[in-house]
Amino acid sequence: MSDLSVAAAQRCVIEAMKKLGTESVPLQQALGRVLAADVIANRDQPPYDVSAMDGFALRSADVAYASAVLEIIGDIKAGDMPSKTVQAGQCARIMTGAPVPQGADAVIRVEDTEAVGDTQVRINVAVKPRNDIRDQGESMRDGAVILSAGTEITPGAVGLLAMVKAACVEVWRLPRVAILSTGDELEGLDEPFDANKIPDANSYALMAQVQALGIQPVLLGIARDEPQHLREMLQRGLQFDVLLVSGGTSVGVHDYVRPTLEALGVQMKFWRVSMKPGNPMAFGVAPLTWVFGLPGNPVSSMVCFEEFVVPALRTITGHTRIYRRTVTARLAHAVKHRAGRSEFVRVTLRAEGNEYVASSTGAQGSGILLSMAVGEGLLVVPAESRGLAAGEQVTVQLLDGTAYQDESGGEC
Ligand code: AMP
Ligand code: MG
Repeated sequence: MSDLSVAAAQRCVIEAMKKLGTESVPLQQALGRVLAADVIANRDQPPYDVSAMDGFALRSADVAYASAVLEIIGDIKAGDMPSKTVQAGQCARIMTGAPVPQGADAVIRVEDTEAVGDTQVRINVAVKPRNDIRDQGESMRDGAVILSAGTEITPGAVGLLAMVKAACVEVWRLPRVAILSTGDELEGLDEPFDANKIPDANSYALMAQVQALGIQPVLLGIARDEPQHLREMLQRGLQFDVLLVSGGTSVGVHDYVRPTLEALGVQMKFWRVSMKPGNPMAFGVAPLTWVFGLPGNPVSSMVCFEEFVVPALRTITGHTRIYRRTVTARLAHAVKHRAGRSEFVRVTLRAEGNEYVASSTGAQGSGILLSMAVGEGLLVVPAESRGLAAGEQVTVQLLDGTAYQDESGGEC
């Protein structure tokens, strides 16, 4: 099997994915999930024309050109149902959100008025019809689709769902994800320190990557490079919807992961991708489980997660936007590259004027996890590139943790 391009491997993975059915979750737990059904408004909001200000509801014809003194006929609070009609020369004191009374066709805010004794008010400005009135149904119309199936539930969507009293919402189910590390050399987080061993970083880096997508994975631990033990551990992993195995997918004599998966009925779709880091990347499907054989090197494992597991998990969970957002950046320095494989260079990003400037995080070895710890993005060097020059415009895939910046923006 020849090495697949990253794009072809991504297509292969995504074609194999499907959503896992729906479930109803309480609104309190709905953030980040994807709606499985349209949400329909069950009322007009506001239910009638209401005031947008604390002020006075009046007849605009009374104050169309000049200031006027009007008689105050009552007080209307939000939630009141006004009974009196505002006649010529009259007004009603009104609070934000309160219904506009019969007869009135505009509201003037209290700051533009002046009390005249206890029962009258002087309006100091001319007022146009509909001034400071929120129209019935301007936020939502009874029967209209306010959020369509496939929408990711943001904090704003949670607010809208509460407006239609959706105490529970129908969303796409999350997959159950298992993570397994492999290797005799690995030392678990809870095992005694042994300077000759390699600490198991992948279980936890992958755990965090899965968590960042809103899914709580199960860590299966470390499988030894011994066929029977590995088989048992992989069998446990195949009870889950998604199994992420790291290490042991290459061609070393102790790399038993692929043959063992195949012996357990996993149909391998590919096991090499033309990329750096991350070449020995395998993907297969079992009757119940999608299996990702990620490279053992910690950076490779994380980069392969970004390129293949992120779009896969986003597809399963019902998202339509499945890829990381990319930005265009100016390259601060040259990047060497030999044509052949796509490369993912870990970079930091700095805003300069109205553009981003990308700089390498430093040494790019596939075991140097610091590059993923401080990297803000993956600079994509196309397979056919013969190197990038300083100042070139490049594409950077943003990593988690890039949603914030040092300074407040927008000149507000
Ligand atoms: P492998 O693909 O199993 O040959 O592993 C490639 C390299 O990644 C080796 O140097 C391993 O020690 C290292 N490695 C494999 N699994 C892990 C892990 N869970 N955490 C940290 N390093 C790992
Ligand atoms: Mg190994």
